[in-house]
Amino acid sequence: MSRALLSHILHRPPLLLAYAVLRDLAAASALLPSPLTLFFVGFLPVVWLRRSRGAERGGALPSRLRTLRLNCSVAEATASSDEAPAPPARKTRVVSGVQPTGLVHLGNYLGAIKNWVSLQDLYETLFFIVDLHAITLPYEAPQLSKATRSTAAIYLACGIDSSKASIFVQSHVRAHVELMWLLSSSTPIGWLNRMIQFKEKSRKAGDENVGVALLTYPVLMASDILLYQSDLVPVGEDQTQHLELTREIAERVNNLYGGRKWKKMGGRGGSLFKVPEALIPPAGARVMSLTDGLSKMSKSAPSDQSRINLLDPKDVIMNKIKRCKTDSFPGLEFDNPERPECNNLLSIYQIITGKTKEEVIRECENMNWGSFKITLTDALIDHLQPIQVRYEEIMSDPGYLDGVLLEGSGKAAEIADITLNNVYQAMGFLRR
Ligand code: ATP
Ligand code: MG
Repeated sequence: MSRALLSHILHRPPLLLAYAVLRDLAAASALLPSPLTLFFVGFLPVVWLRRSRGAERGGALPSRLRTLRLNCSVAEATASSDEAPAPPARKTRVVSGVQPTGLVHLGNYLGAIKNWVSLQDLYETLFFIVDLHAITLPYEAPQLSKATRSTAAIYLACGIDSSKASIFVQSHVRAHVELMWLLSSSTPIGWLNRMIQFKEKSRKAGDENVGVALLTYPVLMASDILLYQSDLVPVGEDQTQHLELTREIAERVNNLYGGRKWKKMGGRGGSLFKVPEALIPPAGARVMSLTDGLSKMSKSAPSDQSRINLLDPKDVIMNKIKRCKTDSFPGLEFDNPERPECNNLLSIYQIITGKTKEEVIRECENMNWGSFKITLTDALIDHLQPIQVRYEEIMSDPGYLDGVLLEGSGKAAEIADITLNNVYQAMGFLRR
């Protein structure tokens, strides 16, 4: 396939993109109790309002993590209309990433990557492949670079557009590791010992086999975020504790080295880091395992049968849906706590078809599992097939992918180096 054609597919014209964003948001909102318009009418003013109130307080943010949800309420939205804040000086910046561990699955897509496609039109976005995080637990060295390339190609195939978002590999921007070291000196070890993920993962791995990196990777995550002076970080509920830690580290370093102290060192003064906020995706975007409707779909779950991978061929998808867990209730319904699998499968169907909840109920309430499974399988194949075709095209042109990653890391490094140099200066290092 020619590069021109590939570029045409990847860089869709603005009208098509606007349509895609509306379509995607409509699909996401269909899972929410509130209508689509709430995102536009509600979410953006609330972000700005909160930012301006922070500024009124002299920029001092409370240390408790404040989160923003994509589905905020009408009340919040209208309450802010008479105090419309001035727009921020620069575009609101959003960063996020996926680890190149295992295969990207439907949960990563619906819970993260698909939302990024909408975010790239609203914000300045940086999406990276967090390869340095992938080595915190035992891993296969020969697989790392392959998984990194594959994850980058999946970002592009899913619609992340390199003319809008910076797409890069974390380890290609050296500032991530350098800033992590500087931040480590100001991070009390007690803060890291409190991290639930560390406790859980180290217990699972057996304490003797756990590397120091499993304890300290939240500091690397803080570095990933703070380097870019990020305003918003889309995180799953499981990552909110790490984002709270990031905020605490930012405030501590700002207090220890920022402001007048930094000015005395020849710097600009003021905060070294923006204190970021969490952007929590809609609750309905949490995709559950195919074998247990109460556990989330996950790369690290031992059974491949529990997830649909984005690159699964048709017959594998068919087989996984055929064998997935169901129940013996008559008909199909959303939101019955006794039927988590039914809710999960209907929700997946709803998001990937872009239908409303009511449309799905009308279409499926009287179906039996046999006919719904065929309907769901067809919808999944229809949705994933174009992504798989684009993925193959991108992977068959390594020069193109390398170019995207090089450009992305160049843009990212420009921002990151400014922050890193400021921190070196404020901490008293001899200038290079
Ligand atoms: P692991 O099991 O190794 O932790 P994972 O499947 O959780 O892998 P991550 O790389 O940790 O994948 O997460 C990447 C992104 O995908 C994160 O933003 C996370 O919130 C999101 N995500 C992961 N699983 C799901 C899911 N089942 N539903 C919705 N979002 C998910
Ligand atoms: Mg995870």
